[in-house]
Amino acid sequence: MKIEFSEIDRDLDKIEGMNGLKYAMAVAVAGRLNLLAVGKPGCGKTLVLQCMPQLLPNLSDEEKVTTDRLYSLAGMNYKDNHRPFRMPHQTCTIEGACGGGANCHPGEISLAHNGVLFLDEAAEFRSSVLQMLRVPLETHQITLSRAGRTTVYPARFQLVMATNPCPCGNYGVKDRICLCSARSLEQYWNKFSAPLLDRVHIMWNNEDADFYPNLTVKELRGLIKTAYEMQIERGEFNGNLTDPSKYEKIASTLSESAKKILDVEINHNNWSSRRIQNIVKTARTIADMHGWSEINDFAINDALNLRTESALDVL
Ligand SMILES: [Zn+2]
Repeated sequence: MKIEFSEIDRDLDKIEGMNGLKYAMAVAVAGRLNLLAVGKPGCGKTLVLQCMPQLLPNLSDEEKVTTDRLYSLAGMNYKDNHRPFRMPHQTCTIEGACGGGANCHPGEISLAHNGVLFLDEAAEFRSSVLQMLRVPLETHQITLSRAGRTTVYPARFQLVMATNPCPCGNYGVKDRICLCSARSLEQYWNKFSAPLLDRVHIMWNNEDADFYPNLTVKELRGLIKTAYEMQIERGEFNGNLTDPSKYEKIASTLSESAKKILDVEINHNNWSSRRIQNIVKTARTIADMHGWSEINDFAINDALNLRTESALDVL
C-alpha cells in the first residue's frame, strides 16, 4: 500500500499556535486512535480538528471499493480517494448515526468506515447517540434489524470529539471562574459515560497548549507515514487492536525503563485496565511514528502527557 496524502481546502499550517492539539491529532491519525479535545469555547479546537483530513493518508484501493459501496447504498457518490471525514450535526438521530429506515441505509458510523467520525460540541448530541457508539467502537460493525431482516454494515471509524470542559466553558481554565454547580458538571460529563470515555485513547485539554513544538503539515505527514508503514507491516493498526494476544505483543515492546515509568503512574492513579491499554497503544503509536522497535522513555512519557486529565478530575 502506497501512503499518499491529498490536499483539502483547509490548511493546518495557517493556524497559529494550538501545537499540542495539532500533535495530539497527528498521533491519533497515525495509530487510528480515538481522540477527545477539551477546551474553552473559541480556543480554536474545532478549526484544528476540521483540518484533520489534511493528515489522513488516502484510502487504499481495497478500502475505496468498500467506501464506494457504502456511499452508493446511502444514495451518495464518493468520488475521491480521501479517507472519509464525517461531521454529523448535533441533532443527528440514532437512525442517522447507525443507519436504518425503510431501505436499511448505512448511517454516519458506516459512512465514516476507514475514516473519522467527528462530533463537534459532543455534549450537545443525544445521550442515546453517544451511548450507541460504544459497541461499534469495539466490534467495528453495526447490525441493523428491520422486519425480520438483518443487515450488517462495517463501521470501523476513528472517533474524534470536541467539547467544552463544562456547560459555562470555564472549568479548569486558568484565570477564569467556572459558575457551574457540581451537579450540572456531573450531569454534563455523565452524558459521555465512563464506558465511552474508556474507549478514548487520547485526551487533550487547552491548558497544555504550548508545551509542544510547532510541527508543519509536511513534518506531521512524515511521522504519520512512518507509523502507517510500521503498523501495516505488523498487520494491524494500534487503535483497531482488540485481540488480547496482539495487545500483549505490542505491550512486550515496552523497554524495561519505560515499563517502570508506567508502573509508577499506574500505582498513583486508579486506571482501569482499558485505560492502561489505551496509554500503551498511544505509546506504541509514538514509537511507530519514529520507526522505533521499542517503546522507550520518550514514547511512554509522551503518551502519558496525552492523557492529561488535570482539567477533568470530575471523571
Ligand atoms: Zn463551568
